[in-house]
Amino acid sequence: MKKHNFSAGPSILPQEVLLKASEAVMDFNNGGLSLLEISHRSKPFVDVMEKARALVLELLGLEGKGYKALFLQGGASTQFLMVALNLLEKRAGYLNTGTWSKKAIKEAKLLDDIYEVASSEAANFNYIPKGYDIPEDYDYFHCTSNNTIFGTQIKSFPNSPIPMVCDMSSDIFSRVLDFSKFDLIYAGAQKNMGPAGTTLVVVREDILGKVSRKIPYIMDYKLHIENGSMYNTPPVFAVYTSMLTLEWIKNLGGVAKIEEMNEKKARLMYSEIDLNPLFNGFATKEDRSIMNATFTLKNENLKETFETMLKEAGISGLNGHRSVGGYRASMYNALPIESVKALVEVMSELESKA
Ligand code: PLP
Repeated sequence: MKKHNFSAGPSILPQEVLLKASEAVMDFNNGGLSLLEISHRSKPFVDVMEKARALVLELLGLEGKGYKALFLQGGASTQFLMVALNLLEKRAGYLNTGTWSKKAIKEAKLLDDIYEVASSEAANFNYIPKGYDIPEDYDYFHCTSNNTIFGTQIKSFPNSPIPMVCDMSSDIFSRVLDFSKFDLIYAGAQKNMGPAGTTLVVVREDILGKVSRKIPYIMDYKLHIENGSMYNTPPVFAVYTSMLTLEWIKNLGGVAKIEEMNEKKARLMYSEIDLNPLFNGFATKEDRSIMNATFTLKNENLKETFETMLKEAGISGLNGHRSVGGYRASMYNALPIESVKALVEVMSELESKA
């Protein structure tokens, strides 16, 4: 039996994507070779890369607006440094909303001065700060759209007077936003796009080339753009699988349709958390993530029973991160609503037993 996969990442992928990806591993394009064996410079793979890059811009509504999409390596964590190397001249402003924001700040601090425009750390990141100022004379403003660990999500983005950079690793392609508000978006593939191994970067070209430092070649966005995201050997499997997921999103009806499905799942999940007296939601209601719902059991004595019931129902990946404890239901794009229904059923069954 296939499990209900609530893992925070790497996480669930659409079945049809997994099937097509595994077929390509055996025989790519009926060419008699594996996707993993062909040259990345061969036309069939260059076509994959170009299609994936174009689909990203199409799905985000950024075609013809001066943006380029890149599929790089090193995970979102490498972007923490790469953003600073490419954009930081004197000072940047960071919104501190969780572990990943902190890591981004730590990395950028190695290069220059970083200012926290606001932080929710004192409340263990259970909310998104609002009403902060972004200084006009800074180089850029950095935020994290969805805090995977704490289950909070920025619902309304500021009108930044300086380039806005956003780590969208855990909610890319999950909801409709005005993506042209952002100057640089990055996201590790392994939640809503594909397997670990590639990181999507979408950058407005005209913000590049403005810093005086020498940027190491491999870290230079301009060089990756000039080389069609093929400066060095790309992670072919991760890019191909991401392209399949992007096609899947497009065929379903695009990001708007996905958002509708995600909203339904999140409503179902949070209404159980709120109505079931055995559970507490972790994140402040107005900032709740539609991707990661964090919650705890009020009575720890029920933990064993609950977890046995989860196991019996084939539910996996529900453990919360150690900094929050309890449970985290990650409901990425590919998670069917049936999985959320299965989880909610177990939670209400626990209530009737308790
Ligand atoms: N940013 C966010 C929001 C994340 O959720 C994660 C991983 O879970 C990362 C960054 C780090 O990504 P990577 O492991 O690809 O470096």
